[in-house]
Amino acid sequence: MEASVVTALRTALGDAGLRVGDDIDARFCEDVLGQRGAVPLAVLRPATTADVSKALAICNDAGVAVVTQGGRTGLVRGCLPQSGEVVLTTERMNQVESVDADAGTAIVQSGVVLQALQERVEPMGLAFPLDLGGRGSCTIGGNVSTNAGGNRVIRYGMARDLILGLEAVLADGTVIDGLKPFVKNNTGFDLKQLFIGSEGVLGVVTRLVVRLIPKPTDTAVAFCGLRDFAQVRALLRHLRQRMGGELTAFEVLWKAYYTRFLAMKPGAGAMPDAHAFYVLTEASGSDGEALRARFERALADALEQGVIDDAVVAKSETEARALWHMRDLAIEVSRTLGPHVGFDVSLRIADMDAFAVDLAALARRLHPGAQTVVFGHAGDGNLHLAVARDVQVENSYAQVERAVYDLVARYGGSVSAEHGIGMTRRAYLGHTRTAQEIALMRALKRTMDPKNILNPERVLGVPG
Ligand SMILES: Cc1cc2nc3c(=O)[nH]c(=O)nc-3n(C[C@H](O)[C@H](O)[C@H](O)COP(=O)(O)OP(=O)(O)OC[C@H]3O[C@@H](n4cnc5c(N)ncnc54)[C@H](O)[C@@H]3O)c2cc1C
Repeated sequence: MEASVVTALRTALGDAGLRVGDDIDARFCEDVLGQRGAVPLAVLRPATTADVSKALAICNDAGVAVVTQGGRTGLVRGCLPQSGEVVLTTERMNQVESVDADAGTAIVQSGVVLQALQERVEPMGLAFPLDLGGRGSCTIGGNVSTNAGGNRVIRYGMARDLILGLEAVLADGTVIDGLKPFVKNNTGFDLKQLFIGSEGVLGVVTRLVVRLIPKPTDTAVAFCGLRDFAQVRALLRHLRQRMGGELTAFEVLWKAYYTRFLAMKPGAGAMPDAHAFYVLTEASGSDGEALRARFERALADALEQGVIDDAVVAKSETEARALWHMRDLAIEVSRTLGPHVGFDVSLRIADMDAFAVDLAALARRLHPGAQTVVFGHAGDGNLHLAVARDVQVENSYAQVERAVYDLVARYGGSVSAEHGIGMTRRAYLGHTRTAQEIALMRALKRTMDPKNILNPERVLGVPG
């Protein structure tokens, strides 16, 4: 990068706002999975929206590509620098600016860590209902840019549903101030939605108005054993009917997941691995023991009606946490396969069982003996898959990837339910989106970032 650009950036951001050369910390080159990117030309550390605006204007004029980083927990290499890029980290934009308890809203900077927001509003009797395993590191800006889903989508929706207003900076430094706190705002295009889920290719998200809910005072968690997928579907229908809006999670683990978990953490399971499927389910509400009583009655009826074969209900918060721990360790459980390819797909619930059977057969066809692990937010039509690959086979990663995405396409599914496209799934965008949709996305990208400096090549690949 030319010295004049570095000087301009230092003048704009101050010494604390710029890192170059040996001052660049290795963490900016690596994501949570340990995947590495290139060493960036510089790390921009803006503290305010005005800083972001000035820095982007300088980079845009100089034609320098910028990759935005939040907590680097994204799973599709979107935040990893490519050669010749600078990193813009939101780590100094980490303030919860205000909380409006009456309205149930907060204004937050995009670098606020998800768990920090959850903990900040909890003493006020409020909750930010987005929740996922990466909560201790991921940022609200990253959550919004990837339209994160997580564990409680079945009740509260994805990140998209939890944002009322948003401020973002375009590639040329223009600030788009859409920080309106209104639930209803039918005044032309809903521009914030362009930035939500577009993985940083259209602008840098700087501040947000998030929606808060009254914190449920009571939560009930159970782990169920089931013999076939017909029971899983019946249980979902049963709990939806009996718990209504109180049902907050419905996570399914195929047997292989649970068996591997037990092998990894002997004694930490809730029941023996005698069942074909396991469901981790949660209900929450605010009418004390009545919620737990309704939940337990619904499960007792499910047992009696043959909808489930076994159930363990957590009797304390510690027990509830232990049940959730089995699900939170998904990355570690998948790693027990050895070298593998991970997927996060959407499918119709009615297709999930047949899909998983076809997936296992496909894995064995590609590499004899190859195992699979299947689990996920089945209540939202979202499965996570891990498929073992044989490192002795040339291009085994690409081979497994193509075969699985072709299978997903045959089932009419989506190649990404919640993790996004990033760098790793660009070739498969067309499996889920039409040519006309992709052409419109490209046209928006050209309009909002004509020099293609923001997260270039992520999501849409090279400009076409
Ligand atoms: C243990 C674990 C569990 C997870 N569980 C889930 C889950 O259940 N559901 C789910 O959806 N995801 C899950 N994830 C993935 C990940 O946590 C989410 O994608 C998260 O939302 C990313 O936030 P981040 O701050 O780490 O973003 P990063 O990884 O830093 O960035 C992700 C993408 O967003 C862009 N970006 C980041 N901040 C901004 C910004 N301010 N403006 C513009 N673009 C930006 C980056 O350029 C990149 O393309 C999980 C990850 C881990 C490690």
